[in-house]
Amino acid sequence: MSENINARDGVVEVQAPSTGAVQALAQVTGKPRRARAAGSAPSNLCGESTKAGGACRTPKMSGRSRCRFHEAQHDPALGALVATDRQRGGAIRTVREFGLDIPVDLSTPESTRTVAERVAGAVLAGKITASQAQAVSTLITAALRATEAAVTRDLEELERRIEEELEARGRG
Ligand SMILES: [Zn+2]
Repeated sequence: MSENINARDGVVEVQAPSTGAVQALAQVTGKPRRARAAGSAPSNLCGESTKAGGACRTPKMSGRSRCRFHEAQHDPALGALVATDRQRGGAIRTVREFGLDIPVDLSTPESTRTVAERVAGAVLAGKITASQAQAVSTLITAALRATEAAVTRDLEELERRIEEELEARGRG
């Protein structure tokens, strides 16, 4: 398996080695300088090599250099989110199998709390077993962790940009 989590190989455009003011300006105007030809892939496509051997033709995530699937392999936080999306599907199926009428929405902390309360109520009422409730609980925990990780990552990214911006202004 791949260990280089921070690998920035391949197609790097806007996040190219910092050139201070130029980069900051590009972010402000939204018109990044024409990227040097770093790879063969068209700029809007992922371009990672696939198991089949070709380049990935899936569009990049906005602000990222790869598609959702390939980006998740390099970003633990995003990987957790993708996994959680899969688990959400599992949670919905699980609760349906219990024959409970509980809408499972783990997309926000509030809706997740509602699910937790209803599942707790169901287990106390004897409608589901403790181990069934435990299964849902595990998914809820995973969903909350993933949300937390994503928020932390966004904040760090924001801080980094502000620092870069201030640094660029200090020099100019
Ligand atoms: Zn891809």
